[in-house]
Amino acid sequence: MNKNIPELYGSLVFNDQIMKNKLPKDVYKALRKTIENGTHLELEVANSVAVAMKEWAVENGATHFTHWFQPMTGITAEKHDSFITPIGDGQIIMEFSGKELVKGEPDASSFPSGGLRATFEARGYTAWDPTSPAFIKEHTLCIPTAFCSYSGEALDKKTPLLRSMEAISKEAVKVLKLLGYDDVTRVITTVGPEQEYFLVDKDLYKKRKDLIFCGRTLFGAMAPKGQEMEDHYFGALRPRVSAYMQDLDEELWKLGIPAKTKHNEVAPAQHELAPVFSTTNIAVDHNQLTMEVMKKVAEKHGLACLLHEKPFEGINGSGKHNNWSLTTNTGENLLDIGKTKAKTTRFLVFLAAIIEAIDNYADLMRMSAASAGNDHRLGANEAPPAIVSMFLGDEISGIVNAVLHDEYFNKPASVQMETGAHVLPHFMKDTTDRNRTSPFAFTGNKFEFRMLGSSASVAGPNVILNTAVAESLSHFAEKLSDVPAEEMDNAVHALIKETISAHQRIIFNGNNYSEEWVKEAEKRGLFNLRSTPEALREFVSDKNVALFTKHHILTKEELFSRYEIHLENYGKTIHIEAKTMLQIMSRDFLPSLMKYMSAVSEEICRKKSACVDISTACEEKLLKDLTGYYETITQYNAKLEEATKTAETMTDMLKQSFYYHDTVLFIMDKMRESVDAAEALIPDDYLSYPTYDKLLFSV
Ligand code: ADP
Ligand code: MG
Repeated sequence: MNKNIPELYGSLVFNDQIMKNKLPKDVYKALRKTIENGTHLELEVANSVAVAMKEWAVENGATHFTHWFQPMTGITAEKHDSFITPIGDGQIIMEFSGKELVKGEPDASSFPSGGLRATFEARGYTAWDPTSPAFIKEHTLCIPTAFCSYSGEALDKKTPLLRSMEAISKEAVKVLKLLGYDDVTRVITTVGPEQEYFLVDKDLYKKRKDLIFCGRTLFGAMAPKGQEMEDHYFGALRPRVSAYMQDLDEELWKLGIPAKTKHNEVAPAQHELAPVFSTTNIAVDHNQLTMEVMKKVAEKHGLACLLHEKPFEGINGSGKHNNWSLTTNTGENLLDIGKTKAKTTRFLVFLAAIIEAIDNYADLMRMSAASAGNDHRLGANEAPPAIVSMFLGDEISGIVNAVLHDEYFNKPASVQMETGAHVLPHFMKDTTDRNRTSPFAFTGNKFEFRMLGSSASVAGPNVILNTAVAESLSHFAEKLSDVPAEEMDNAVHALIKETISAHQRIIFNGNNYSEEWVKEAEKRGLFNLRSTPEALREFVSDKNVALFTKHHILTKEELFSRYEIHLENYGKTIHIEAKTMLQIMSRDFLPSLMKYMSAVSEEICRKKSACVDISTACEEKLLKDLTGYYETITQYNAKLEEATKTAETMTDMLKQSFYYHDTVLFIMDKMRESVDAAEALIPDDYLSYPTYDKLLFSV
């Protein structure tokens, strides 16, 4: 490759460098102030930015602009307007005003609003988010925006995220001031999401209705080989995958997305991409774009990129790890353990705040990862369990124990790694190991939340994390606010000790996949919310309403609207799956099975009519088995049809979602058992779709 990567990087982004070059000095300064301090932006400034933005966009081939936003569908939305303005004589000019930059008015009536907006109030607004840079995609200038209703209620994922970033910053700054850090005026949350995905051949994909309609296979017998050899993890990239990843990296780099790490994952056909972390708001936007670009680039390579949490039964599904930390505007990571007493104390204050937050709002953390797709992963021996707990590792646990028992903590000295081979370079070992089974693990200078599903927006869990931690910090600030300076040290230590000891039940360093942990967690009184409906029920509990409203993240109405949207989304997802299953069974699978049964019976007749004494026992056994499956599947098909009809008549959405989970999904699972068993007996030629072996091993 002879491309100039630094030049390519961010070439489609209206980034700081370009703003600096293109904007008058005072305008640039005003804009930076808004970006860094969240101050209000005047229309004159916006006008000036709009002119520069359009000029740059047109130079780079854009003909249209769009307000790019993230409605509650979980994906992004855009409506394109061209820059052209007729000026008479059949002539046009390319125009773009500050007003168009700052505000858009898309018809909001077809986006989910969870009853927030009456249909006659179709109007919605999009508002420019200057903290996330504009970019060009498909000849269109995309302006990141927030999306709200006519009366100002949030209808998107960005608005509460920005609110939560404000909230945690405000509370963290208060606490830091009390600890003596007067120079900190802002605390920024940072996120680096690791994204897992599957790649399958596009032609094969097109033959699977379940993949097309549901994003996952609804049935399919496992290939003779799965992931048991663990030879795919970090394995050498096959040429087609490598070409895809190369192309993907370049497309992401152009958009200023710092794609950094790529590798094969555990399951066959599964891969991962991780960017360098950035400010949460930008990380969320980038992750949405990444998912979109992943799919688009796949098309170009004759591939389909599957972002579903569980595309295939029997092998790992895909998640998204949300690496999260806190940085001050003075450039310090607050989750660095620190080398001085003061810094370690500061670290412990924030650690204690996080421990309290996760313990008090474990239900919300779980809820933030809840979806119909992710229900197939959580608790299923691969992803973390549905129980939220925290892993601190040896070093931090050592410190925490010392604090709890008023002991002096000796930081273990770094040990030299012993490889037993003299030719290898010598390096120091990390003082703590990793725990891959924990849903919320401390990993050096950040926490990694591992429950999230691969297709989800990372906005959700970060809203919860930021808000819950803001809440503990606000308690801390309250408790410390009247303490005289000379007593501060003692008060801070007492607070750390008291908080950790009150919430230590949330800390678990063992194996989260074990049966014992489930029992132990129950003894500790921790939540074990096994399914999305269970998790959603907790979403709107009084304590959670109080949290969101206190910090102005969501009003009660906004919260309940989201609750409804999630319930609706869950039900609809399973409804579509059920209907897809019904259609495939009636129109494809059962006819295939019937055809094969006819062939087998013909063979039996042929043998019987040949006047020789040959046994037909094997064929008869096969025919009997096939007939058995045919009958069972037909019966389940009827049951499933009835169940989907019943579900449709239900008006209580929570009850309906439980019905989808307990009845509809249950029937589908039972049905799948017979379908998979039957499929294993049917030759490929009789099937209308590609089986797992082809899907998983053909790229
Ligand atoms: P892992 O810890 O899973 O082995 P890495 O150490 O490479 O992998 O980190 C995974 C992700 O964590 C990357 O996206 C990285 O940018 C991100 N990350 C690292 N430091 C921070 C931080 N301070 N805040 C948020 N994310 C971070
Ligand atoms: Mg990781």
